[in-house]
Amino acid sequence: MTVASARAIFAIRSRTLRIGALEGDIIYGSRWFFEGSCLARRPSDLICLRISRPLLEVIIRQHLLSLANVRALEDCAVESLLENSGSVTGIRLGNGSVIEADLVVDASGRGSQSPQWLEAIGHPRIVMRVIKGNLLSAKAAQNSPTASS
Ligand SMILES: Cc1cc2nc3c(=O)[nH]c(=O)nc-3n(C[C@H](O)[C@H](O)[C@H](O)COP(=O)(O)OP(=O)(O)OC[C@H]3O[C@@H](n4cnc5c(N)ncnc54)[C@H](O)[C@@H]3O)c2cc1C
Repeated sequence: MTVASARAIFAIRSRTLRIGALEGDIIYGSRWFFEGSCLARRPSDLICLRISRPLLEVIIRQHLLSLANVRALEDCAVESLLENSGSVTGIRLGNGSVIEADLVVDASGRGSQSPQWLEAIGHPRIVMRVIKGNLLSAKAAQNSPTASS
């Protein structure tokens, strides 16, 4: 983790707390269910922020957009990669405009089209291996201190 990203995390944490997020022990302050059973609640040192996902996303977005060297382009999807002599040199957007770059980072999630885009500019097909993690989804019910007091 870089100093800049650590600073960003602390700035985001402070902001979420200022606007009402709750910080607390994720094990003791929550009720966790795994495979139908409730886990024992014991004090731990796992301190977490309790905040809704939409609110967290808004705060992160506001923080990023406040940075001088960050710019957001809305309502435009990346359609393909720009290429020069086998190297990626930028992106082409759905509206036809292009952005040239020294480095392109694909953060488009699990539906990423990078394999197809790279293939389209002459790179060999990326061989993907699916690793089954056997992880389960868990839900936690939480009472806020204000609600229980
Ligand atoms: C129903 C559901 C519940 C989940 N619950 C949890 C949870 O409780 N806790 C947890 O930790 N994780 C959860 N996850 C997983 C979590 O959402 C993902 O791991 C996480 O969002 C991945 O982040 P990401 O930034 O890689 O991709 P994403 O969040 O998918 O972001 C990708 C972004 O790229 C954009 N994009 C895609 N293609 C293009 C394109 N061609 N041009 C421009 N933009 C593009 C998309 O619009 C999107 O905004 C859940 C996932 C699902 C589906």
